[in-house]
Amino acid sequence: MNPILEVVSLKKYYPVRGGLLPGRRGFVQAVEDVSFTIAKGETLSIVGESGCGKSTVGRAVLRLTEPTEGQILLDGWRIDKIPVPQLRKLRRHMQVVFQDPFSSLSPRMTVRDIIAEPLVNFGLAKGRAEIDDRVAGLLDKVRLPRDAMRRLAHEFSGGQRQRICIARALAPSPALIICDEAVSALDVSFKAQIVNLLTDLQDELGLALLFISHDLAIVEHMTHRVAVMYLGSIVEIADRRSLFSRPSHPYSRALLSSVPAPDPTASRRRIVLTGEVPSPINPPSGCRFHTRCPYVFDRCRTEVPKLRARTEATYFGATQLAACHLDALPAL
Ligand code: SF4
Repeated sequence: MNPILEVVSLKKYYPVRGGLLPGRRGFVQAVEDVSFTIAKGETLSIVGESGCGKSTVGRAVLRLTEPTEGQILLDGWRIDKIPVPQLRKLRRHMQVVFQDPFSSLSPRMTVRDIIAEPLVNFGLAKGRAEIDDRVAGLLDKVRLPRDAMRRLAHEFSGGQRQRICIARALAPSPALIICDEAVSALDVSFKAQIVNLLTDLQDELGLALLFISHDLAIVEHMTHRVAVMYLGSIVEIADRRSLFSRPSHPYSRALLSSVPAPDPTASRRRIVLTGEVPSPINPPSGCRFHTRCPYVFDRCRTEVPKLRARTEATYFGATQLAACHLDALPAL
């Protein structure tokens, strides 16, 4: 299946300045050699602790930050290279839903004007009647009453505001929606409702979703594939079932051990990692995880492990890939 989004060897370094002398002191290596694809109708989740680089990947895909190296292709278009006027047109096909529905909606605009904004900006609807009609249809899609149009965003609850954000994202009929911690700020009951809404919309519209989240329980519930990031790099990428039942990287195994098992009669043994996450200004040599890995051996300190296949194709032709020198994880 042809990917809607293809990210190839993406790097994002931020210069570090300061100290007594002018000039750069080094770089924050926020994203290091990240590659993945997302197909039409597929959800890929990127998970990891805060600061692992997952949101930077999303911002680079949207070109809210310029990649340092690598390629980003949206339906074959090199969006990392495209000039800004063309990029503006292409943005119609990739939309974003951010974490905080309270700050991402103007308190002075009506819901109608918020949702109509992309329709007007991209020239997708003209005239009051047509715009009202399109906005009403989008409110139906996100299951809000049509009379919400005349009200201000601050009159709604957090979950309802996130529905307004989703309606705005859907307005230009995008191929890809990036959800950057889109349910993290919501109460538990609203989280489930928003996730169910997103998956229903995906089934109906064939949307590709890039779901960036630290909430592993939500990810386990709704994603097709998962990429696990540690210190700027993907350490494992696999279909949901393989990853959650049989993680093949020591970091994934530790990260996922904190998620309650969906079956309450089963239990996951909690693995607590020792040490702190190293600085992305001066990451460890070899395997970036070697300073905290319980299975570290000499080779890990000098040689960067490449992502290697661990299982045969399981989903969308995907394999389970892990960046580890071990052929298999020791039993717990
Ligand atoms: Fe651990 Fe070595 Fe594998 Fe890195 S390469 S995860 S340090 S065993």
